[in-house]
Amino acid sequence: MPKYIIVTGGVLSGLGKGIVTSSIALLLKSRGYKITAIKIDPYLNCDAGTMNPFQHGEVFVLEDGGEVDLDLGNYERFLDINLSRDNNITTGRVYKNVIEKERRGDYLGKTVQIVPHITDEIKGWIRRIAEESGADICVVEIGGTVGDIESMPFLEAVRQLHLEEGEENVVFVHTTLVPILKVVGEQKTKPTQHSVKELRAIGISPDMIVARSPEPLKKETKEKISLFCNVPVNAVFSSPDVECIYEVPLILERQGISKYILQSLSLEYKEADLKKWENFVNRIKGAKKVVNVAMVGKYTALGDSYISILEAFRHAGAELDTKVNVVWIEAEEIEEGKKIEGVDAILVPGGFGERGAEGKIMAIEHARKNKIPFLGICFGFQLAVVEYGRNVLGLDCHSTEIKPDTKHPIIMILPEQYGVKQLGGTMRLGAQPITIKEGTLAYSLYRKKKIYERHRHRYEVNPEYIDMLEKHGLVFSGIAEDKIRMEILELPDHPYFIASQFHPEFKSRPLKPAPLFYGFIKAAVEKKYGV
Ligand code: GLN
Repeated sequence: MPKYIIVTGGVLSGLGKGIVTSSIALLLKSRGYKITAIKIDPYLNCDAGTMNPFQHGEVFVLEDGGEVDLDLGNYERFLDINLSRDNNITTGRVYKNVIEKERRGDYLGKTVQIVPHITDEIKGWIRRIAEESGADICVVEIGGTVGDIESMPFLEAVRQLHLEEGEENVVFVHTTLVPILKVVGEQKTKPTQHSVKELRAIGISPDMIVARSPEPLKKETKEKISLFCNVPVNAVFSSPDVECIYEVPLILERQGISKYILQSLSLEYKEADLKKWENFVNRIKGAKKVVNVAMVGKYTALGDSYISILEAFRHAGAELDTKVNVVWIEAEEIEEGKKIEGVDAILVPGGFGERGAEGKIMAIEHARKNKIPFLGICFGFQLAVVEYGRNVLGLDCHSTEIKPDTKHPIIMILPEQYGVKQLGGTMRLGAQPITIKEGTLAYSLYRKKKIYERHRHRYEVNPEYIDMLEKHGLVFSGIAEDKIRMEILELPDHPYFIASQFHPEFKSRPLKPAPLFYGFIKAAVEKKYGV
C-alpha cells in the first residue's frame, strides 16, 4: 500500500514548490524508498503542449511523448527516473474523462457532479499511478495557490483521500512565503497564517510547513508559525533563497525533514546516502572556471522558458568544474546589427515561427565561420541546415514553416503531418531511436551506436537535399531508424559544431550530463582556457 505526501502552496505562486517537492522526494529516495511523483495542474488545458512557454514556462517532454508541466522535469532530474504523461493531472484531462464516461452511460441515471464524480476521478487517478508505479511513497504536488477556484476540486479530493487512507498514510506539506519587511527587518508570518486558515476552512490541516524566505527562519519565526498554524515547532522548515536549487534537499535534510515525514507516515527510519549529491553540489558551488554561453532566442523575462537547458548547463558544468554564465541574446537584435561578442560558445535553442529566425541564422553563420563552439537544438538544428544551404551551397532556401513558398524547401513538414489540423499533442513527440555513425563527433560523445532522445517537432530536413549537403561537407552523424530522418549534424573541420533534431536537454540529469551539452561546455572551456 503506497503512502502519500501531498504538497500544497499558499500566499503566491512561483515559490519553488516544485523544488521543495522534488527535494523531499529525493531525500526519501536516498533512504532506499521507491518514489513516484504526480503534478496536478488545475488549468483547463489538457496538457502543457498548447501553452506559451513565455507565460507558463517550458513545455517539458517525457519519454512517452507527454507534453507536461516543467515540474515533471524537476522530478525526473532530482529522482533520476522517467515519468509518464499520466503523472501530470490537469483539470482538462479530468473533466474530459468524466464527460466521456457520462456520454458512454457509465453514470446512467445519476446527476454528474463535482463531488463525488470529479473528486472520485481525481482520487482514482492518483491511486492508480501510485499503485502501478510500485512506489512506497507517492508525492503529489498541487499546482496553484490555496484559495484559487481552480484548485478546489483537487483539494477536496485529497481531503477525502486522507480520510479514506488514514492518518498514518497521508501527510500534508504546506509551502508558503515568509517575507521580510525591509523597514523593520522582521520575518512576517501573517501571510502563512492566512493561507493555513484558508486550507483549514476546506478541511485540510497541514502536518508540516515549509516556509520560503530570503533568509533562514529565525527560531521565533518558527515558534510563531507553530503556534498560529497548529503544527509542532519541529514541523516548521525553512527553505531560504539559494543560488543553486540542488542545495535545497541538503538544507531541508539538516533540519530533519525526512525523519519527521517518515515518523508521520509510520515508516522505518533509514540512513540516507547523499554523498554523491553533496559532491555534485560542491562541484557546482566550487567551480573555478567560468564560460560565457550565448543563448540566442526570443528574449524572455521568464528564465523558466528554457529551464531544462539551464539545468543541462549546470550538470555539464559540474562535471567540468565550470560555471556556465548565460548571455541572453535577442535574435531580432542580431538582425538589427547587434554583434555577438565576448562569448565562448553559442546555443540556438528550439523555437517556432518567423520572429528572430534570420537573427538565429546569422548567429549560426558567425559560430561556423569563427570556429566558436555551437550547439543547435531542434529549430536550431533546422536553421543550421538553412544556413549551410544558403551560405555554402548557395541556395535560396528556407524552412517551409517560415516561408511556405521558398524556392528550395530544405526543411519541410514531416509527411505524417500533412493534413493535421488539431494542434494539441500532434507533433512528432517523445523518445525515438537514433543510429549514430561511428567515427563521428556524435559517436565520441555518446559512445554508443543506438540512442533514444526526446523529440517535439513538425518539420525535418528535406531528404532531397541530404546528398548535396553531405557533398559539401556537412555530416549527418545521427539518423532515425527509418533512415530518412536526419537527427544529428556536425562539421568535421570545426572545434565543435553540432546540432540535433531532438532535445538533449530533457534527458540531462545531475551526475549524468547530456553528452551534447557536456561536449559543448568542454569545447567552450577549451576555447577559453586552452586544451
Ligand atoms: N518549429 C520547428 C518544428 O516544428 C522546431 C520545433 C522545436 O524547436 N521544438 O519542427
